Amino acid sequence: MDKVSMSWWGSGAAVNKKLGNASYALWGEGDPLLVDVSGLTAMQLASDGQLSRFKDVLITHVHSDHISGLCELGYARVNREGDWHPPVRVHTGSGAIMDDLIAIMEPMMQNQSRNDGRAFRAKFGDYFEISVGEEINIGGLPPIHLHKTRHAPGMDCYGIHVPDAGLWVSGDSVEVKALPKDTQLAFRDANGPNTKHAVHACVDMLRTLPYADNEITFLYHLGLDWREVDATGFAGKVLPGDVFVLDGEGYKHDKTNTFLYDSHPYDGPR
Ligand SMILES: [Zn+2]
Repeated sequence: MDKVSMSWWGSGAAVNKKLGNASYALWGEGDPLLVDVSGLTAMQLASDGQLSRFKDVLITHVHSDHISGLCELGYARVNREGDWHPPVRVHTGSGAIMDDLIAIMEPMMQNQSRNDGRAFRAKFGDYFEISVGEEINIGGLPPIHLHKTRHAPGMDCYGIHVPDAGLWVSGDSVEVKALPKDTQLAFRDANGPNTKHAVHACVDMLRTLPYADNEITFLYHLGLDWREVDATGFAGKVLPGDVFVLDGEGYKHDKTNTFLYDSHPYDGPR
């Protein structure tokens, strides 16, 4: 088993400022992989000075709470401090997701200026390299397998499975899949608590799963009523700033920085 760490920047549904939008980073020995980036996530990362760190981002699907910060990620990485950095590599599970992503993002990003002030007509490829496939291999991380999940009708969407680390994430999903063998830590979309939702699972659906599986499962993508969700029987709810470390023997849950991303007091001149 390989050691893998996971930081959650946000853990909530589309409209949830307190929990932020579901997004996390995975890293091992080398560069991190960012999974999904909303505008809110991009602002959180930027305020911590971390946005331009990411060379690789996985987009699980094209709902706005998973992609709307991609522009800022590209700008931060490519234009930062006058340098022309290598572009961000964008990974998607399918060509359909990539086609949608380019069609959505390119018009928003095309009217740009270079660092010397000259305007230019940017293409998606000026900011992003494209990588399509259901397995992601990044130096320092074990292979990341993408599994297709049922979310909005007609839309491709993926969750992730890192077998060498025992990590599994449902992705946005109304489908309740069994956990793969040897899973040590799992995360499930649980938009709720009482949502009879057509595109997300809810806690009541997840309660029907085996107790041993739920014991290692954290709930995420919770809505505005997240405080009322009864997580009894589950490992708990993910909160922004939570870090998990998988070491092959199980996992450690580090809450040192939980909710600290939005704590930047200012007492300077105004
Ligand atoms: Zn979604």
